Formats: sequence, C-alpha cells, structure tokens
Amino acid sequence: YQPLAEADPEVQRIIDNETYRQFSGLELIASENLTSLATMEANGSILTNKYSEGLPGARYYGGNEYIDQLEILCQQRALKAFNLDPAVWGVNVQPYSGSTANFATFTALLQPQDRIMGLGLPSGGHLTHGYYTAKKKISASSIYFQSFPYQVDTKTGYIDYEGLHKNADLFKPRMIICGGSAYPRDWDYAKLAETAKGQGAYLMADIAHISGLVAAQVQNNPFEYCDIVTTTTHKTLRGPRAGLIFFRKDRDSTIEGRINAAVFPACQGGPHNNTIAGIAVALKQAADPAFKTYAAQVIKNSQAIAKVLSSKGYKLQTDGSENHLILWDLRPLGLTGSKVEEICDLAHITLNKNAVSGDTSALVPGGVRIGTGALTSRSMTEGDMEKVAEFLHRVVQISLDIQKVSGKKLVDFMKVARDNDAVKQLNKDVE
Ligand code: PLP
Repeated sequence: YQPLAEADPEVQRIIDNETYRQFSGLELIASENLTSLATMEANGSILTNKYSEGLPGARYYGGNEYIDQLEILCQQRALKAFNLDPAVWGVNVQPYSGSTANFATFTALLQPQDRIMGLGLPSGGHLTHGYYTAKKKISASSIYFQSFPYQVDTKTGYIDYEGLHKNADLFKPRMIICGGSAYPRDWDYAKLAETAKGQGAYLMADIAHISGLVAAQVQNNPFEYCDIVTTTTHKTLRGPRAGLIFFRKDRDSTIEGRINAAVFPACQGGPHNNTIAGIAVALKQAADPAFKTYAAQVIKNSQAIAKVLSSKGYKLQTDGSENHLILWDLRPLGLTGSKVEEICDLAHITLNKNAVSGDTSALVPGGVRIGTGALTSRSMTEGDMEKVAEFLHRVVQISLDIQKVSGKKLVDFMKVARDNDAVKQLNKDVE
C-alpha cells in the first residue's frame, strides 16, 4: 500500500492545485459547496470496493452485512434530516446523481410519452425537467416524455403560477415538476399542489439546490404537498456528489416498489457505497443545530450581496433573493454573462454565466448566477459578502472599460482582458 503522493504524484499534484484553487479564490457557483473532511473520508473509503446490487437484506452479491447496516443508517438519517415520519415517507439513497434520481423517478411513475411540465431552462429550471429547444430534444426527459415547460413572468422574474395553471388545464400533464437551478425565490408548493390535484397529476419537487435550506427549515416545506421529492446531496446539503429520492408511501402502496425497481435495475447497477457513507455523514451533520445556523447564514449572505448590488443600481432578477442564489441581469449594462464570467475567472472569482428571463439566445446568456453556499461554509458572514459584492462591482466596471477598447466580440474582449492591469490588480486583491 502506497499513499497517493508516492503512488501517483501526477494526480496528487492536480489535487493539490485544485485544493489551492478552491480555498484561495472566491467560490460563488450556486450548485457547489465545500463538504466536510469527515464526509470526504467516508467518500474516499474502502467501501468503494464492494458490490451490493439490490436493497438491504435482498442483495445479488454476498458479503453485504456491513453495507446493509450502512444503507439502512443512511435511509434513517435522510428521513430524520428532513423531519419525515418513516410511516409516511420512504427514501432511496442509491442514485448516483440528481439527474439519475430524476430519470429513475420518471421511469417509476410515468409511461413513455406521458406529459410533464417543469420550469423552463431559460426561466431557471433544470435540463432534466424536460428541456428541449426549437431545433432539438436535448434532455432524455424530453426525448422519452412530452414536455411543456412553464415559465417565470418576464416582467417580475417570479414563477407565473396562473399561466402554469391555465396551461395545465390544456396540456393535462401526468406530472408537474417544481424546483430549479437558477430561481432566487422560494416556491409556493400549496399552489402547485392545487394545480396538480386538479389534473390528477403527480407533484414532484426537485430541491437539489435548496435541500440544505429545506432540511434547516429556512425555506417552505415541499414534503407537505408533494408526492415525490428528489435532491442532489452536494449543493446546500453539503454532502458528496449523489442523489436521493423521497416518496410518499401512504397514498399509494406500489410507489415504494416502483421507485426502488426504477433505480435498480432499470436505471442503475451497483450502488456507490463509499458515496452512501459520505451522504450518511453529511446527513448527520445536517440534522445538527449548527447546520440551521449555517443555512440561515447562507441566505443572509445572499441577501447581503444582493443589497450592495441593488444599491449600486444593478438589476437583479426578482430584485433580490430569499435563498442561496442571486441572478444578476447584465443586459441593461450591455454586457453578457460570458464576459463577466471570464473576468471573474481571471480574478479568481468563480461563478457562472446564466440565462435570465427574457433572454432570446441560450448561447449568449445575459446574466450570471451567484451562490453563497461555499463561502458560508468558510465561515464568511455579511461583512465579507459586502467585500465580495464590491469585487463583483469592480469586475463589471472593468468589463465595461475593456469592452470600450475591444468591441463586443468575446475573443477580442478576452485578448484585451488577459493583459489588463486592472484585472491583474483585482486578482491580487481577491487572493
Ligand atoms: N436537479 C437540479 C435542480 C439541479 O440543479 C441539478 C444540477 O445542477 C441536477 C438536478 C442534476 O444533478 P447532477 O449534476 O448530480 O446530475
């Protein structure tokens, strides 16, 4: 047995560089977080060696005595973290990711070509909720199912619940999906449940982004109204990269069997037991009172950035945030999300370009998405966020100055940006 640094210095060097990158810069990607050392230890453990197709007590491989204990513990902790009654809710902890959790859910509950309605991607929805373009069906969820997305109101940036209700009446969906990747506001699950009930449709919430905030009870509770709740485990929940599917057992006695069979063998093979161990550790941490403080701070931090940016006259979608993310509309400034993302990258601030409502091209998004999950894990608070917002303000001012010289083309903009003294100075200040 050799430690990594001796066995493979090349990979070790890359890990060391990435570690430096993650902690010396400002990580503002809304879908990322910094998981704990204990979670990473479990995730990198010897459990990766074991095959365990099946479920606890019913495996296709021998030697699963301890793996069964682990999976049951993880299930119990998942229900506890979200305050769920095991008589009412069940959970599958095997999905490899949020995408597979979603597709397994569709496989379990829908027939091919059934109708689904999710929040459109340009409105902040996720690919896996039925995304397609005028030219092409992009996501498997639009290839195998008929998808008719609902949208945010282009004036306010808030979900157009009335529009969804009216269109559901016409489209007659089998499933309505709520949740998204770039929606800065909380969800009205009661309203969505009313629409779903009217159509006899399943209501599924994908709380990937906000699951840590839901566990900490600082967002509305989707479990009160939804039949199915899926989530990733690596965003605000701060676990390893994976997915979970929660299902309501009390309304339909077949749902548990259908969800479990859809995960394995329909969509996946053997569970990643090392990851399940990492999830179990993260869920224990999420049930701790300290996590509530963390989650509340995530929102305070997001609001602190939003306040500074708004005070400088910038346009934020919905004029603010009540979760971990902010969607900054750069179109009034004549800038694109790509340019601001590039300058941020050069200055060691990591965020991503993002469509904002009313964008006409998915290829040239008009905004950026900013998230506070990771910096809050580094114990940063509102005062730090004010500095972060000042850095972001500088990024935009520098971008405008560069664009004056370079013109609007991104390649020309980048050529000027790489040699720009203000960018170099900003990078120094950020580090
Ligand atoms: N669902 C939502 C709402 C997401 O934001 C994401 C990822 O960003 C996913 C699902 C997919 O998760 P994964 O990347 O783990 O497949």
